[in-house]
Amino acid sequence: MSARDFTSDCGNCAALCCLALAFDKGEHFAHDKAAGEPCKHLDHHDCSIHTNLAERGYKGCAAYECAGAGQRVTAMFGQSWREVPKQVAPMMAAFRTMRDVQELRQILEAAATFPLPEKTAEEREAWLAALDSEWTPQSLARFEANATARAIRDWLRGLADYVPRTQNS
Ligand code: SF4
Repeated sequence: MSARDFTSDCGNCAALCCLALAFDKGEHFAHDKAAGEPCKHLDHHDCSIHTNLAERGYKGCAAYECAGAGQRVTAMFGQSWREVPKQVAPMMAAFRTMRDVQELRQILEAAATFPLPEKTAEEREAWLAALDSEWTPQSLARFEANATARAIRDWLRGLADYVPRTQNS
């Protein structure tokens, strides 16, 4: 699994979005679901209505993309929350942070196309290297607590001046 792979691999995931995310009944979801409550359409780790999500009222699920966080967290834990219910909370926490990590990686990768000054380009690579680590539940928890994500987001805001005009408009 490449660190630069940002595609979800649902076949190798313990259905973490279907467990961890909350949604409200409305245009995009056909029922209310709380975070930590397995979706009622889950069959173990598989969505029982996956082939006709939109027709069944779940356009939000059809459009969702975890950017590869789900399979990474599933591999990290080894056992699913299905088999080990006490892992529900730790897996949800790791999934939330890993989604942030993957989002930041994607933005930093995209910034490689910007006309960055040498020093800024080196900083971009340093942030990417910091995110390309062998993550564990513990290191993800530290990452969330130690404000690195906030520092990267602050740094990314400074890139606005280098966004090519066609991408900025
Ligand atoms: S968390 Fe990601 S990989 Fe897992 S089921 Fe949801 S979209 Fe698929």
